Amino acid sequence: MEEPTPSVGDAHIVFQCAKCNVIIGDSTSWAFANKSLSGVVLHATTQNVTETQMVRTSDEDVDFGSTYTLLQCNNCKTTIGRVYKTTPKKLDEVRDLFMFSVPMISSYHLGSFEQKTNTNAENLLDIPTARYLNSQLWKIQSLIVTMNNRLTALENCVEVESNDELNGDVPV
Ligand SMILES: [Zn+2]
Repeated sequence: MEEPTPSVGDAHIVFQCAKCNVIIGDSTSWAFANKSLSGVVLHATTQNVTETQMVRTSDEDVDFGSTYTLLQCNNCKTTIGRVYKTTPKKLDEVRDLFMFSVPMISSYHLGSFEQKTNTNAENLLDIPTARYLNSQLWKIQSLIVTMNNRLTALENCVEVESNDELNGDVPV
């Protein structure tokens, strides 16, 4: 039942309510993940989470007959998990722990901001940097200088020709 968790271990993960992003826990309280229940199980949760008093009984296949209370996000009042009170034997390990439903939470890996920043900033990076603009300006400048040189050369040619013409037109 216990999932190997390569993402947890050295990684530091903050868990949040998927709806309002309030922090509900972190990987220092990590117990395990339970695939059959689609849950992340923590030993502790933050003050942002309330356990409701009412005990419910499951009639779903996966945890049939289990009793549990609900974990609610204090901020947006969404139900984000359960605390199992009684379970069938196969779910013994989740009992009395905070199990958050994976679809109801989001996670943030500490130190992963670089990747996120890059992704988010990708559009921003379409705005050229000063260095890039400078290099573009320099290219345009050299182009103008080159064109100017060629133009001057052409003008000289034209001038010489027109002088010749002029000379030629001058009656001897
Ligand atoms: Zn919330």
